[in-house]
Amino acid sequence: MTELAELLDSRIRDVPDYPKPGVLFKDIAPLLADAEAFGALVRALADRATELGATKVVGLEARGFVLAAPAAFAAGLGFVPIRKKGKLPGEVHAESYDLEYGSATLEVQCDAFAPGEKVLVIDDVLATGGTVAASLELVRRAGGVPVGVLVLMELGFLPGRERLTPHLDGVPLEAL
Ligand code: AMP
Repeated sequence: MTELAELLDSRIRDVPDYPKPGVLFKDIAPLLADAEAFGALVRALADRATELGATKVVGLEARGFVLAAPAAFAAGLGFVPIRKKGKLPGEVHAESYDLEYGSATLEVQCDAFAPGEKVLVIDDVLATGGTVAASLELVRRAGGVPVGVLVLMELGFLPGRERLTPHLDGVPLEAL
């Protein structure tokens, strides 16, 4: 593990059986509350945004917002939210998908991206991969070109990466 990964890992709290029995919830609240770890994470995300040549950073509701918005700012880029159904005004594209717990619909505003804009997608946890898969489809439908997916952590005991592979279509997926 890198020094950064060790620092981040040490600030993530495992909460068994939340929000329902059988789910091991990865609580990032201690990480967000720690200035050193949060700062290091945001800088690492911003550096990758620059290296990947992104021109917009997308955050996935809700914890993805907390990581993606400061990373976009630090990289000198704009931020676009992908939100749960019914939260964004105006014309939206919508994609439904299955979650590790439950199901959901995500939306993006139709005018979120200039045509061909290079988009980096950021979220906290990759579990089954449904959330990121739906988000990649939304970015493409809104005219953006995904250049990367960054997550704080990937749950290796779930087949998220495998499920995502056809949706990635060569776009790099990295877990910090
Ligand atoms: P998935 O679509 O299954 O990859 O789920 C990813 C989304 O659900 C992310 O936005 C996470 O915030 C949330 N999530 C799923 N599983 C967990 C977990 N075990 N701990 C924390 N968040 C999770």
